[in-house]
Amino acid sequence: MSLSKYKSNKKLIDRIIRGIREGNIFHAYIIEGDGLSDKLGFAKEFCKAVVCEEERGSGCDCCVNCRKIDHDNYEDLYIVEPDGMSVKDEQIAKLQSDLKKKPMGSRNMAIINCADTMTARAQNRLLKTLEEPFGGTLIILISENRENLLDTVKSRCVLYRLEDAKENMRGEEGAEAVFECLLEGKSFFETKQVISQYMKNREDAFLLLDGLERIYEKLLTFEDLRRKNYRKEEIFKAIELIEEARRDLHAKVNYQYAVKNLLLKIGG
Ligand SMILES: [Zn+2]
Repeated sequence: MSLSKYKSNKKLIDRIIRGIREGNIFHAYIIEGDGLSDKLGFAKEFCKAVVCEEERGSGCDCCVNCRKIDHDNYEDLYIVEPDGMSVKDEQIAKLQSDLKKKPMGSRNMAIINCADTMTARAQNRLLKTLEEPFGGTLIILISENRENLLDTVKSRCVLYRLEDAKENMRGEEGAEAVFECLLEGKSFFETKQVISQYMKNREDAFLLLDGLERIYEKLLTFEDLRRKNYRKEEIFKAIELIEEARRDLHAKVNYQYAVKNLLLKIGG
């Protein structure tokens, strides 16, 4: 499946495709996403897009390079998997010597899966390569939680964060249910119960806010018949409050508090 066929992460993928076509390929990336998203698959698609002979930028699935990457036998792509619980220093040392070899094609590439399990020694070793990459080398670090990566490593990589399509859908549904509560003037207690079905953690809270913001933005375009229930200023105010709640979340305010606070303000 080439990058252009992904249903989710459209904006990100457009950016990637454009970047590759314009020749803006950085030497190191972090691809982050939760446990559900197929980050390794995505990273391979990224590599295909870079070396594809037919459709540079998105990958064609058919040319020799694309097919070899699909079958895990592309000579210039090195994939490192954790050895037991972590990616170890020796593995990075081996990778570095592999990356020094002259590539068969245009460039050497590496994917380090579960890079956030790299030991501190492994990360420090990798840092040398990130600081002085061999010509054309592309390194992709796959991570679920980049907090485990050293700041010095992170600062040398471009970060791409994958959103899970299913997750987004849940945010969408939750936002719709909460919005209905507000529209019907349900009690705060009832609304709170609806929220608790859709919001189990901080990540959910972000998704809920994104969903709510999209609903209010759509109200502004008159496409939504529920528009008649609102004055324009009320909609702008709601969007402003949602952005405020998102800032609170980024500032590590308790997520339940941030969302409840928002709904009290919008409702009241
Ligand atoms: Zn191809």
